[in-house]
Formats: sequence, structure tokens, C-alpha cells
Amino acid sequence: MESSDIRNDLTEILVTEEQINTKLRQLAAQIDADYAGKDLLLVGVLKGAVMVMADLSRALTQHVQIDWMAVSSYGASTKSSGVVQIRKDLDTDIAGRHVLIVEDIIDSGLTLSWLLDNFAARGAASIEVCALLRKPEAAKVEIDCRYVGFDIPNDFVVGYGLDFAERYRNLRDVAVLAPHVYA
Ligand code: 5GP
Ligand code: MG
Ligand code: MG
Repeated sequence: MESSDIRNDLTEILVTEEQINTKLRQLAAQIDADYAGKDLLLVGVLKGAVMVMADLSRALTQHVQIDWMAVSSYGASTKSSGVVQIRKDLDTDIAGRHVLIVEDIIDSGLTLSWLLDNFAARGAASIEVCALLRKPEAAKVEIDCRYVGFDIPNDFVVGYGLDFAERYRNLRDVAVLAPHVYA
């Protein structure tokens, strides 16, 4: 019978809840300093960035607005298709706005590359990226990411918002999925 404990499906914890909390506080302090006196719009990319957005935004001391965008390039597979589709667009007109895109992970970089072009075309005053995780070995396009939490190996990870087939998002740490889960 399938075990109900998420942890039996993991081979390794890569980043702990505590490490994430510490890092997000550091990034928030930088963001507070960099955007002092500016009107900041945080844009989270659904659904993976939900946890990062919740913790990062609450670690900020300044006023921010929060909006969400849903795009898809993955489906239930573990490889990027490179084809980005808007599932839910912004509610906000970002022309003239200072936008900080909040992401869970930069893998190939294809999704963010597309989003950056898309936001630039809408006339944002500035666009920066904050990603909790980045896989340098997986990059297909270079992304200029001002705020990065952790560089990690080229493994498929889950937890802290990141899913496999919509599961594991509620895990508090970031972990590598065990091979028997794919089989
Ligand atoms: P990219 O376009 O940079 O390849 O990645 C697009 C999206 O795929 C990410 O924002 C993330 O939602 C998902 N993704 C990329 N790598 C991983 C991974 O290791 N685990 C999980 N669960 N999702 C990933
Ligand atoms: Mg994402
Ligand atoms: Mg996913």
C-alpha cells in the first residue's frame, strides 16, 4: 500500500525550512533597501511561488502590491517544453511600475525569459527577478536574476510550493524526489 508520509518519497533534503526562512529574510532586507521610496509590485508565478511569496512579502517592511500570473510550460512531466502559455494574466496594468517577479525556481530559464520579454513589452519601469532556487547546470538561456536564494544541482526537486503532479507542494523543505515515485 502507498505510504501516506510524504517523507518516504524523498531521497535527500536539499534546503531546510530554517535555511529558507533565514535566506528570505536576507533577500527581503536587500529588497527593502533597493526599493526604498519606490512603489513596488510583486508578481508571483503560480502555483510554485505561493510559499515564497507568502514568506518573502511578509518579511518586507515597506508597502507592496501583490499580483499573480499563471503560465504553463510543464504539465505533469519533469522537462520544460519551452512553450509558454498564459493561464491567468495579471489584474494590474504594469506600465510605469517597478515589478519584481517572484519565482520558485529557475531551471532552463525559458519561462522567465519569456515573462521578462512579455513584461518589458507592457512598459514596466523596471523588472527584476527573485527566485528561491536556481539550477545553473540546467540553464538554456541566461537570466539576470538579482535575488537568488540557493543554487542547487540539476535534480528534480519538490516541496515549499514545488510539485510533482500537483503533490508535494505542502512539504516544508525542498527535497529530491525518490526514483520509485517516477516509476
Ligand atoms: P524553466 O522554464 O526555468 O525550465 O522552469 C519553469 C518552471 O518549471 C519553474 O518555474 C517550476 O515551476 C518548474 N520547475 C523547474 N524545475 C523544477 C523542479 O526541479 N521541480 C519542480 N517541482 N518544478 C520545477
Ligand atoms: Mg515557477
Ligand atoms: Mg509544477
